[in-house]
Amino acid sequence: MAKMYYNNIPYGISNPRFQTASAELPGSALLWETMVNQSDLFAMQTAMAGKGGPFGAQLWLVNPSTNEYVLVGTAEHPEDSNAVVSKGIASAHAEAENLRLENREKVAKFLKARRGQGWKIVQISSGESCPSCRAKQILFAQDLISQGLIAHGDFYVGFKSSFEQTQRDAKFNDLPYDRAFRAIQAFRILHHPEGILAFDSVVNEQIQNLKDTGQIIYTPVSEMAAQGHTWEEFFRKAITPAAVIVAADGKTVLAQEKDYPAQRKNDFEQSVIVKALHAACRAQSAKGIFESWNLQSATIYTNFRDIGPLGYAEALWCNIAGIKVIKDFTHPEHEDSAREIRVVKNEKELSNRDLFARVATDYGDALSPIQARFLGNSEQPEPGSISKFHAGPMSVAHAFWAAHLMKEDLLRAQEERLRKLRGIMAITKPGMSFRFIDGSLLELEKFVQHSTLNSHYDGKQAKPPTPALGVA
Ligand SMILES: [Zn+2]
Repeated sequence: MAKMYYNNIPYGISNPRFQTASAELPGSALLWETMVNQSDLFAMQTAMAGKGGPFGAQLWLVNPSTNEYVLVGTAEHPEDSNAVVSKGIASAHAEAENLRLENREKVAKFLKARRGQGWKIVQISSGESCPSCRAKQILFAQDLISQGLIAHGDFYVGFKSSFEQTQRDAKFNDLPYDRAFRAIQAFRILHHPEGILAFDSVVNEQIQNLKDTGQIIYTPVSEMAAQGHTWEEFFRKAITPAAVIVAADGKTVLAQEKDYPAQRKNDFEQSVIVKALHAACRAQSAKGIFESWNLQSATIYTNFRDIGPLGYAEALWCNIAGIKVIKDFTHPEHEDSAREIRVVKNEKELSNRDLFARVATDYGDALSPIQARFLGNSEQPEPGSISKFHAGPMSVAHAFWAAHLMKEDLLRAQEERLRKLRGIMAITKPGMSFRFIDGSLLELEKFVQHSTLNSHYDGKQAKPPTPALGVA
């Protein structure tokens, strides 16, 4: 299928996505340049305050014809940062926080009162949006389009750091997760009769090398027959789409949820796989489990085949071994009800597969309801070049994060040095101390700082789930 190669990887999977983020944002280019850098500064401040990963986002409404700009937020809370640690949810990235239900409702209300006036949406993000954030942008845009509140393409995203820069500078690696979507696009998986279920069989061999080297991380989706598990009773009784998440031990049920399509309307976060994943993370968090967003190679079971892009992307962040569709419990109605967004009546509804195609495709594809703009600097800073550093090719939030990671490494090295010193220093027991010139003693460990910082883990730094991956 893919004939061109880039770094020995089929082109279309590994060519940098940001290079096609060249849409013209509506309104003042200088304002967006200012805002994306403000977002970077905000991300740095929140990361320095220990609130989470170094990312920030703003949500704007813009009317280019009247030159009006409205920020979706409050004076106390104008922009959002990463909330993975505070919420215990792997996908609680800055853009996702920015697009939470409360803000989506405010935007829809605003646009309803100003129909036909030409308002557009601009989301500004300090970093390129991961596939789950992109899915949220696209689902929200599609929802607003279906309500006639914006036109196709009137939802814009401007970002500062590309995936590649974020990986290089701050060691957050979205690329292998995004490559799952690139591969779905490059190998035309969604055109296959089986859709996402065909992924493993069509793509597996061609990306074996990428998989083995952790350069692509994907969740296999497969079908199976009911096997008499106790949790299958839940599916037997379910009359709507349902999802059960079972831990890697094959027995412990982490979450079981049913979809209520009529109630959830277009709140895609209430679609059943997303709901079940969040419930499982919250349950782990309530038990005090470290890194509660990591479901450690658990399996998702469903009673529908047409897995949506958001459910799939969120599963990637939660370290899921596979999604298994139990054939015995599938029903054509479930396929309809499981749609991550429902379009208003009298219009052709978008299936999850249609939505998936919009999330997988490149920036700038006419199919996508959003348009993206890379607002950063693609110039690579020279090592040690202060002037280029100040000129801004590198995110300051990521520069801080790099220093933060170096500090943690250094603290670990210091502990090792202390251990060695215990063996060689003439010290006063108990506790290794040294003497001040006035004769008083100080414990060396109190002088050399302990490694007491948390690592502010983010789902983006999840270790690839190597043993479980590919075991369908
Ligand atoms: Zn994200």
